Amino acid sequence: MSKPTFCYFDNNATTCVAPEVLDTMLPFLKDDWGNPSSAYSFGNRLTRPLDRARSQVAELINADPREIIFTSCGTESINSAIHSALVTSPDRRHIITSSVEHSATLKFCTHLEKLGFVITRLPVNPDGEIDPALLHDAITPQTALVSIMLANNETGVIFPIAEIGAICRERGVPLHTDAVQAAGKIPIDVKALGVDFLSLSAHKLNAPKGVGALYIRRQTKYCPYLIGGGQERGRRGGTENVAGIVAFGCAASMARTRQPELALRLAGWRDQIEHSILSQIPGTSRNGSLANRLPNTSSISFEHLEAEGLLMLLDQAGICASSGSACTTGSNEPSHVLTAMGRMPKVARSSIRFSLGCYTTQAEVDHLITILPDLVSRLRAGCSANED
Ligand SMILES: *Cc1c(COP(=O)(O)O)cnc(C)c1O
Repeated sequence: MSKPTFCYFDNNATTCVAPEVLDTMLPFLKDDWGNPSSAYSFGNRLTRPLDRARSQVAELINADPREIIFTSCGTESINSAIHSALVTSPDRRHIITSSVEHSATLKFCTHLEKLGFVITRLPVNPDGEIDPALLHDAITPQTALVSIMLANNETGVIFPIAEIGAICRERGVPLHTDAVQAAGKIPIDVKALGVDFLSLSAHKLNAPKGVGALYIRRQTKYCPYLIGGGQERGRRGGTENVAGIVAFGCAASMARTRQPELALRLAGWRDQIEHSILSQIPGTSRNGSLANRLPNTSSISFEHLEAEGLLMLLDQAGICASSGSACTTGSNEPSHVLTAMGRMPKVARSSIRFSLGCYTTQAEVDHLITILPDLVSRLRAGCSANED
């Protein structure tokens, strides 16, 4: 079999738009481009496709469609949930999050800290896991919100949100979870998780960029983040991204259907990649707990090299991977997730994330594991030569 010319192992950064999703959205760009809020039928006939998409997204997480609002991205959903919790309980000025959240949560919290809010960032253990007992001790009468991700984008570690949800309910504190990476990879049930808010992003599950969703539990108080028109039943101003929303609905429905089979397939390839690297390349180690993790994500440290150099060689071979979150690439800062897990900055800077998706093929996996040992030795030989 000939080797593929383009191999994509960065599905946690973004995914391609599925052909079925593209077909579903195109009519809303070409012909049906009206404004859903218009009184005439060219506009208001869009209500039905929007409702359908809302049901499809709701179904992915076992929510009621009325509990879903569409946003412009995962980041907006996360910011909106945190903002709402603070505004609806103005006497509470404390937020609890984790030290390994996406920057959409962490940087927003740092911003709030500068405005005088108090932020607690729960630590993780060397396997990247959170101990719910720490949350128990961190909650105070001042706590307005707990925001902890469902699965980590760099290591794939899944957090015990149902257990965290039980603690939050007992203490009367609302809970938000960033489920952007978990969606489509593991089953999600908002009722079983016991969350008040849950964030999703379309472009991480084969729909286009520029659309997200926020689940708001029916009894949870909500204050809009974007204030304007009466869209989303007054919960999010701004004319609906009709094509994007319809695409998101289609992608959510596909993701739900294929999830069990996809998880098995991707876990098999992930294990093949990890086994091959760990057994054939000396000085490699895996980051993150094996017990509870996403089926598609693998984070590996390669001693005695800089991840940026290896990524460059991989790029020249047509292979896309990343050194962590796409949002922090280029900064040369070691990953905040790996440093929170206690990795030395040097080790964190030598780590690469491979993330698989629904279009990953056996040929791509074979190409990666065939070429990697040689690239690593070349790079290490160069590194030690430089050090002499
Ligand atoms: C990608 C990502 C986000 C941000 O989603 P956008 O739609 O790109 O804003 C948030 N959280 C996690 C865990 C992510 O992986």
